[in-house]
Amino acid sequence: MNTVNLEDIIGQDRAIRFLRRAYEKNRIPHALLFTGIPGIGKRSCAFALARLLQCRSAKGIAACGVCPDCRKVDSGNHPDLLFVEPSGVSIKVEQIRAIKNEFALKPFEAERRIAIIADAHTMNPTAANTFLKILEEPPKGSFMVLTAHQASDLLTTIVSRCQHIAFAPLPAALIADRLVQATQAEPKAADIVAVWANGSLGAALAADSEEIRKDRNWLIEEFESLSVNRMSLLLGFAESLSKDKDDLVNRLEMLKVWIRDLVFAGLCPQKIINKDLKERIEETLQRYSLLSLLNKTKIIQEAQNALQKSGNRLLVLEWMLIRLCQEV
Ligand SMILES: [Zn+2]
Repeated sequence: MNTVNLEDIIGQDRAIRFLRRAYEKNRIPHALLFTGIPGIGKRSCAFALARLLQCRSAKGIAACGVCPDCRKVDSGNHPDLLFVEPSGVSIKVEQIRAIKNEFALKPFEAERRIAIIADAHTMNPTAANTFLKILEEPPKGSFMVLTAHQASDLLTTIVSRCQHIAFAPLPAALIADRLVQATQAEPKAADIVAVWANGSLGAALAADSEEIRKDRNWLIEEFESLSVNRMSLLLGFAESLSKDKDDLVNRLEMLKVWIRDLVFAGLCPQKIINKDLKERIEETLQRYSLLSLLNKTKIIQEAQNALQKSGNRLLVLEWMLIRLCQEV
């Protein structure tokens, strides 16, 4: 199932440092909440911690990988490691009851029991309330690790009983390196996918790099032909962008990288990410002043902030595109 150790989790130094200290002092909190975007190692980290807590001959924070406990964890058959994830769209009360029953079975044993609840924000209300009861009186030797996108998606009464550890989006350079290692991707293609993945290694690994390249080309083409004199095209572009919320997040990030490339082309060309579009970058560069490029980045950033708050994606995007046209 999972064979990583805590030290193998990349790009989450702060989280790993916290867990290392807690483990060394024998003070791993009985309830942990790992939050962050999908594909950045929350679940792997939960399993690595479970493996460490069950291992009989760990060295430092590295589980040995060969003892019977490690083997059972790795094969998904450890009786004292319970794993729950959404069944369909949500985690149901029966799944949480199973943890409760399991935890109640051997209340006075010294061994550790661990429950990992992945995507805990999908617990339906009954499941969440049942889970809260376990959290209120955690059995001795029990550990619970929850993963979720953000703490605000969970009951505050659950969050307040957990040690919250925020997992950071991964830097694009780190994702690109991993992609090259894991998939033998061509470095130029890996750079583009890494930007598109917007901090998520999982998304990058699952992505189709050819599709992403096409999407990027379309995006740049549309972006560079924007004009307030062709309002219907502008509004059409806004509408296409607004359709898919997840794609939008990635596409805006790609646009920012395109502008960043235009800025770097004049200052420090080796830093360009869209290396395959060098000629296009040099051509486009002539059209803008440095100041206008910086302002364009600011406008997109403001739209990204507004999109996090506002429900009306289309309106935010129309406004963003009109303002971008005025920055030349
Ligand atoms: Zn072991």
